[in-house]
Amino acid sequence: MEQVFIKALPVLHTLIEAGHQAYFVGGAVRDSYMKRAIGDVDIATDAAPDQVERLFQRTVDVGKEHGTIIVLWEDETYEVTTFRTESEYEDYRRPSDVQFITSLEEDLKRRDLTINAMAMTADGKVLDYFGGKKDIDQKLIRTVGKPEDRFQEDALRMLRAIRFMSQLGFTLSPQTEEAITQEKSLLSHVSVERKTIEFEKLLQGRASRQALQTLIQTGLYEELPGFYHKRENLMAASKFPFSALPSREELWAALLIDLDINTKDAPLFLKTWKLPGKVMKEAIHIVHTFKQNLNVMTMYKAGEKSLLSAVKISQLRQNGKLDEEKLKDIQNAYQSLPIKSLKDLDITGKDLLALRNRPAGKWVSEELQRIEHAVVTGKLSNQKKYIEEWLKRCGQH
Ligand code: ATP
Ligand code: MG
Repeated sequence: MEQVFIKALPVLHTLIEAGHQAYFVGGAVRDSYMKRAIGDVDIATDAAPDQVERLFQRTVDVGKEHGTIIVLWEDETYEVTTFRTESEYEDYRRPSDVQFITSLEEDLKRRDLTINAMAMTADGKVLDYFGGKKDIDQKLIRTVGKPEDRFQEDALRMLRAIRFMSQLGFTLSPQTEEAITQEKSLLSHVSVERKTIEFEKLLQGRASRQALQTLIQTGLYEELPGFYHKRENLMAASKFPFSALPSREELWAALLIDLDINTKDAPLFLKTWKLPGKVMKEAIHIVHTFKQNLNVMTMYKAGEKSLLSAVKISQLRQNGKLDEEKLKDIQNAYQSLPIKSLKDLDITGKDLLALRNRPAGKWVSEELQRIEHAVVTGKLSNQKKYIEEWLKRCGQH
């Protein structure tokens, strides 16, 4: 048993000693069987949320009505979820109402994919009622039960199936793929926020190329925000190695470039994905920088972070991989710029007012920009006395 499970065993034992059933479930069991890095360790139990709260000293109620309590144990947090079924699905979305039950098997049955529907006992035995191990061995993504039924219950599962393809490098079972092709339009009932989470994970997966191609082949891409007329661009985008970009901003910037969405149309596109304003702004700034020829002025305007993001995207588009040495060179070139922002100028607007003896106006910021340009491009040294001399020579503009 891996260290992350051993560390979580006291939580399982506390539940078991109080007379309940408790198991590790979901992604951690899958990743352990695959000998892959294990993410969050989730726990399922037949104890009701109130009972879970009473058994542990430190808990957080993150959705008691759905059965989930977070248990803090040493320096870790664990989601402990009461066995449940989701019998009432409304509008192809996850239900608002759930029923708590006492059967592990019934709980596992409501999970989306066979690979995600395994459990592990406190002594490390894997319980696999739906052929999850066999599907992992065959690298197959398959729903628990009939795919059409499962997608009608919650249409997000179609996108999740393709997201796991991307992360694990698996293929869809023929029935699962067929059902996605058939039921794809149901995805329109799912909230954008849920789609965005899965789509970002899909892009960052190691097999994003196959996953994006499957999105196209099944037609599911049509139900993603802003993608309807983008089939060809998306096909081209599938070749981009998104997994080499760790940040959300870079990911969306690369996508905008691949989809040939210009900086004018980008805000609307990103808004349909309901991205936070900060992410949108930075993604668009990276695209803007990407489109410029690199010189000291464009480097200065970009700022270090966006500059490096734009160069990374450019390298990945050209060579499919990063050139760390060149990145370091560009970073050094940025570091040796005489100033990094207007604030670094050795002269202020106030100084200009005194020097020119003119009332304040637009001319102040215009003149500061002229000085900024001259300093950044190396025509003028960033020292007050030289700047003042230069201003006298240049006269008043
Ligand atoms: P990751 O490592 O990306 O977190 P995960 O398998 O833990 O992968 P989550 O999205 O965190 O995936 O979901 C946890 C578990 O909950 C899944 O393994 C699956 O059993 C179940 N699950 C999540 N979303 C759904 C859904 N829409 N329908 C059915 N079961 C789901
Ligand atoms: Mg998880």
